[in-house]
Amino acid sequence: MTNIRFKALEQIMQDQLKTTTDKQSKISSYFGQSVFSAEKLQSYLSQKAYSEYLQSIENSTPISLSLADQIASAMKGWAMEQGATHYTHWFQPLNGATAEKHDAFIDFAEGNHNMERFSGKLLVQQEPDASSFPSGGMRNTFEARGYTGWDPTSPAFIIDGTLCIPTVFISYKGDSLDYKTPLLKSQRALSDNASKVCRLFDAHISKVNVTLGWEQEYFLVDERLYLARPDLHLTGRTLMGHASAKDQQLEDHYFGSIPTRVLQYIQDFEHQAHLLGIPIKTRHNEVAPGQFECAPMFEEVNIAIDHNQLLMDLMKKVARKHRFRVLFHEKPYQGVNGSGKHNNWSLLTDTGVNLLAPGKIPGKNLLFLTFLVNAVSAVYYNADLLRSAIVSAGNQHRLGANEAPPAIISVFIGQELTRILTHIAESSGELTEEKSAGLQLKIANIPELLLDNTDRNRTSPFAFTGNRFEFRAVGSSANCASSMIALNTAMADQLNKFYMNLSAQLKNGESFTKTLLEALRNEINVAKSILFEGDGYSQNWLIEAENRGLTNIRSVPEALEALISTESTQLFSKYNVLSEKELEARYEIMLDTFIKQIQIESRVLGDLAINHIVPTAIKYQNVLIKNVEGLKGILDMKDYKELSQPHID
Ligand code: ADP
Ligand code: MG
Repeated sequence: MTNIRFKALEQIMQDQLKTTTDKQSKISSYFGQSVFSAEKLQSYLSQKAYSEYLQSIENSTPISLSLADQIASAMKGWAMEQGATHYTHWFQPLNGATAEKHDAFIDFAEGNHNMERFSGKLLVQQEPDASSFPSGGMRNTFEARGYTGWDPTSPAFIIDGTLCIPTVFISYKGDSLDYKTPLLKSQRALSDNASKVCRLFDAHISKVNVTLGWEQEYFLVDERLYLARPDLHLTGRTLMGHASAKDQQLEDHYFGSIPTRVLQYIQDFEHQAHLLGIPIKTRHNEVAPGQFECAPMFEEVNIAIDHNQLLMDLMKKVARKHRFRVLFHEKPYQGVNGSGKHNNWSLLTDTGVNLLAPGKIPGKNLLFLTFLVNAVSAVYYNADLLRSAIVSAGNQHRLGANEAPPAIISVFIGQELTRILTHIAESSGELTEEKSAGLQLKIANIPELLLDNTDRNRTSPFAFTGNRFEFRAVGSSANCASSMIALNTAMADQLNKFYMNLSAQLKNGESFTKTLLEALRNEINVAKSILFEGDGYSQNWLIEAENRGLTNIRSVPEALEALISTESTQLFSKYNVLSEKELEARYEIMLDTFIKQIQIESRVLGDLAINHIVPTAIKYQNVLIKNVEGLKGILDMKDYKELSQPHID
């Protein structure tokens, strides 16, 4: 029996190896094959229709129904050529997963001769039953209607014969019931306010895109071991057990060579990701045994988040094929590292400038310094809100534990930038011209290495990493939108205030550089208490942070309250990202999910204790009883009694 099973497994492995070798062609030859990209759309549309489409994407204006009709027909034509038979609106409801309801292209409406139909109306809007998705009390149980609306900025794609169209999801009354709606609004708010500030430097900048590159950590576990653990199965983490004698003590897993079976799994999902246009680039072993990471090249934030959600789904499916299960839980095993999802975030102008790129002489790069300082201020003023956007039942085991950033929100910018900001804060004008030094290694054949402006600090929840900020506190199972909505809106507000102040000062006729430096100085002096370069894991930091007035909230329910504080409510309504009602609904949903997850864990724990631990303990107790009986038998034996009598000569 075991042999047969082993043979079957061996066959699967060989098949996989074959498919992997079949796939060794250039990635560029199949990248995006399953995506209906703008280039593909162009080949189906007239020049006029295509430029109308481009313009509405560029200017964020609605697409007319007649154009939607042409696009729908193009999409259907392409999808059917690829063998698709169905379509679905694909959205991200507030349960954290993705949702899809497939419909066949068939339609009898206009006679039988052309059965496959797909109109602009169907592309633009659908009306799924929303009653079983979390709404946080925004609708009554009997109000079942919800609408999905096409997001033309994220391209449609095909999975398993179904054309998936990314959409937003709103209630009958127009309230958002998903992650995408407020994300798109937060992008708009940030773009508008960031470009206002940019135009003080360069009149040509009219739009600022948010870029996101996520790093996804995960654990893999063999299917048989997974199925033997009801706790892993039902809660995503182990609730009982003891640590392995050898886990990560020897630090021998991180960046080690990837085990063959795991590599085959990774190659398989990467191949599928590339077909779907997800630019996965990096793979490596993580710190804990069985833990790995993948990361794509960064993209515009809305697309990056669609891709992350899609990839997590894909990774789960492909894992089953390889007799693995993938764990996205933030802390599946006590005592070894948990998993995060670092969100690398930056801003890119429509003229191609990364606003967080320091350039060769950061101390003189005023545009960079303006955005750097404002990002620090945005985190300073909104630290509690940012924390509320990343907390969850799983992530609370990770935050403040020894491998993840603490629950204290602080910002790391590195030595060189600290020096520059201190210089601005303390001096009365001139800028520093320090350049980054090269590193002379003096090892034969090793070229001079270029040092980055910043070192890394893995204990910081929000760290500057050369040309972007890395929001490291985000949990591995999270939808990145949650943290990105908070961060984008916080930054939009900060830039707006900065702009208002600066333009008021500029009206007084002072020079631009002098006024700007004065404004930056004021910002740095207020926000500097959030800057921390030291070890975020140390006990001293807890004390120092408290002295600085920074908050350290580890309890999820308490942290969530910041989401509905007066400040947050005003912030989100001001930029039309989330109304008070929508915020309260999100708060309800997050709290409810937290409570239910803890409840499920307690039930599984009780069940494990009663159905697995106690019976095993009784079984063992019986073994001991038998052992005692046996020992008693030996003691009662005649020979033994005689032998054990003291021998007196
Ligand atoms: P690390 O060395 O921090 O583990 P990785 O290579 O795993 O880095 O991931 C870094 C991520 O940051 C990648 O997704 C990368 O594309 C992304 N990134 C790089 N530059 C930017 C940027 N300007 N904006 C957003 N993300 C960026
Ligand atoms: Mg990485």
